[in-house]
Amino acid sequence: NQEQDEEKSKEYLDELEFLAYTAGGEVGARFTQKIDIPNPKTFIGSGKIEDIKHYVDENDIGTVIFDDELTPAQQKNIEKILKAKILDRTSLILDIFAQRAQTSYARTQVELAQYQYLLPRLAGLWTHLERQRGGIGMRGPGETEIETDRRIVRDRIALLKKKLEKIDKQMETQRGNRGALVRVALIGYTNVGKSTLMNVISKSDVFAENKLFATLDTTVRKVVIGNLPFLLSDTVGFIRKLPTQLVESFKSTLDEVREADLLLHVVDISHPNFEEHITSVNQVLDEIKSADKPTIMVFNKIDNYEHQTIDEDDLVTEKTTKHFTLEEWKNTWMNRMGDTILFISALNKENLEEFRKKVYEEVRKIHITRFPYNN
Ligand code: GDP
Repeated sequence: NQEQDEEKSKEYLDELEFLAYTAGGEVGARFTQKIDIPNPKTFIGSGKIEDIKHYVDENDIGTVIFDDELTPAQQKNIEKILKAKILDRTSLILDIFAQRAQTSYARTQVELAQYQYLLPRLAGLWTHLERQRGGIGMRGPGETEIETDRRIVRDRIALLKKKLEKIDKQMETQRGNRGALVRVALIGYTNVGKSTLMNVISKSDVFAENKLFATLDTTVRKVVIGNLPFLLSDTVGFIRKLPTQLVESFKSTLDEVREADLLLHVVDISHPNFEEHITSVNQVLDEIKSADKPTIMVFNKIDNYEHQTIDEDDLVTEKTTKHFTLEEWKNTWMNRMGDTILFISALNKENLEEFRKKVYEEVRKIHITRFPYNN
């Protein structure tokens, strides 16, 4: 259905634009093309490339971003035609992560992901040179150079992996030293309000802002609700099509989730795609074998939720998420999850008492199994 496709692609590009903004860029124009099979050389068709080239030249555009992952060859070919820097979704996200990495651990993880992204692209450079030099069998200095480059990159990757392994071990010990306290992890799509919620309940000062991936490093705080202490961690936000290099290098950050006793899955219910976000997060949970953990669904930003009423005589083919009232959403999720759901506003501090109570109850259930004689 064409209308739905257009709606989807608009939402995807909204997100990409938000990513570009987070990286410090400003978006001048958007181009879309419906293609069944991407062009192996330039991803999009030649007519579309011409349109873009026209716009790029006219407006002196420095960077063109693609929402999908490009092959190294496609990236090079497009760069040659447009004479602009070509980024794909992965390299854009890597760029943001590089800007935002605060600790040496996060920096090492990002560096590793960047080199992993670079390695096949060096190979692309090689085939490109090979063609210029007259094909297979031509062993020129260029090839040796690139082989050297590749070896340097591979060595660097091996080194970074070792460094991470070492820190991973230290972190594992640290986590082990935290004793038998119940561990709760805040998880959710990026920008849903995890850090804000962390601040509100732990009265701490975690960095929160309206950009993607404000949090790269895990923050762990000891929280006490009604004399019951537990550990609360805030982890890197998930996002649709998170580059695989990143999922792998952020493994240890995800360990925090893997080792948690209870998950608080935070959702931005005011976002038109919130159900898709839930699916993306659940996919990552599946991948790290954490889908079966006790989970409280925390629907945040209820202050920002706009309910769209439908007129009786409107012809509606399909209800959008906004056509439900918050009450209807509550009932829907109650049916799916039982009573482990909450509707709150971390910003306006709405329903936070209910939030504390629910978290307390769930933590207490786990706590009792762990310290049966103290209760
Ligand atoms: P995180 O990426 O999930 O950690 O999200 P943040 O805590 O950094 O919040 C992202 C943005 O959403 C910030 O601009 C927050 O001020 C905003 N935000 C968080 N909670 C709420 C809420 O309950 N209502 C509204 N309207 N905005 C919120």
